[in-house]
Amino acid sequence: MKRFTGQDRSITDKWRPATLAVRGGTARSDFGETSEAIFMTSGYAYDNAEEAAARFRGERPGMTYSRLQNPTTDMLEKRLALLEGAEAARATATGMAAMTAALLCQLSAGDHLVAGKALFGSCRVLVDTILPRFGIQTTTVDARDTQAWAKARQPNTKAFFLETPSNPGLEITDIRAVADIAHDAGATLVVDNAFASPIVQRPMDFGADVVAYSATKLLDGQGRVLAGAVLATEKWMNDTYLPFTRHTGPNLSPFNAWVVLKSLETLDLRVTRSCENALKVASFLETRVPKLLYPGLASHPQHTLAMQQMTAGGTIIAIFLGGGRPQAHALLDALELIDISNNLGDSRSLMTHPASTTHASLTAETRESMGITEGMLRLSIGLEDPRDLIDDLGQALAKAGL
Ligand SMILES: *Cc1c(COP(=O)(O)O)cnc(C)c1O
Repeated sequence: MKRFTGQDRSITDKWRPATLAVRGGTARSDFGETSEAIFMTSGYAYDNAEEAAARFRGERPGMTYSRLQNPTTDMLEKRLALLEGAEAARATATGMAAMTAALLCQLSAGDHLVAGKALFGSCRVLVDTILPRFGIQTTTVDARDTQAWAKARQPNTKAFFLETPSNPGLEITDIRAVADIAHDAGATLVVDNAFASPIVQRPMDFGADVVAYSATKLLDGQGRVLAGAVLATEKWMNDTYLPFTRHTGPNLSPFNAWVVLKSLETLDLRVTRSCENALKVASFLETRVPKLLYPGLASHPQHTLAMQQMTAGGTIIAIFLGGGRPQAHALLDALELIDISNNLGDSRSLMTHPASTTHASLTAETRESMGITEGMLRLSIGLEDPRDLIDDLGQALAKAGL
């Protein structure tokens, strides 16, 4: 029987990001396969009983069960950590599994969490409804207002949670300033970086302690699998995260891990091109709609801050129409190329009406406080020719009366 050697070519951060994205974390078996293998296995066999006992005592390296380790998932985690500049990464089944585990692993009844108001819909439900059921106190603040974070601190504050750029309002939070306030209070800053990806923004470079992803978005980038990831220091992972997840099991399946692993090889190419396309489309739309938000345009109220912590404006544009839901739905229904879809970060350009889809489970007041109006549309730009996207939007805007 051939034995997997787990040979690691020692790809470390001495290589540049584009190289790490292709080769980081690769572990070859004795077959010498060039493309990474998929290890669809739940368990592992041992040469003898003492070997099993030694692995369970943690005295010998080696895998024991795929809720704890898997070679394919391991490759993804190593590659992701290298791209993010993090010591450690763990992959999860979905982005929400990542957010939930990143918060629940460090919060107990009686602790307090401060979170930005402008969060992905399910993240708001987690903060407003689910965590309080377990006796965790939560406060939401306008994440753009640095002083609001300082004012919300309490003696029992253990964590800060934010998303920048936020979904779907594209609000920018000053990561460095909020990290300083969190650390001053002895709290951990968790940043949901799904909208940026490590290509556009590396929150740890600005002081974030934990970075969490929906890898369903730009990391897979082709709309195929749900996945998530949590990145942090080795110490936090071992002392805080793993004691929770080893026994609650939010793991990513090895097959889905492989899909995302292969996607990371093209992450830089895809995200860079999508950002270039988004800037072109946003520049066109700005001349046609009453209001638009895109962090890469000077018209975004936080453009300067965005460009301090992001390398590009991102792939998402928020459009605000004057005619409320009827006009927003009319624009969606007139699209010929761009799909109506609540997903984002796909190679296909997608548009959604957040008030009636992703954020429909929130109250109208909560939506209003997050800047989600009835006339708002979120546009996720993909890899099509930007001239075709502009043509499609041009004809759809005309049909919607713009
Ligand atoms: C999609 C998304 C999530 C949730 O991720 P899933 O993979 O759908 O569970 C969390 N945060 C942000 C910012 C997202 O866009």
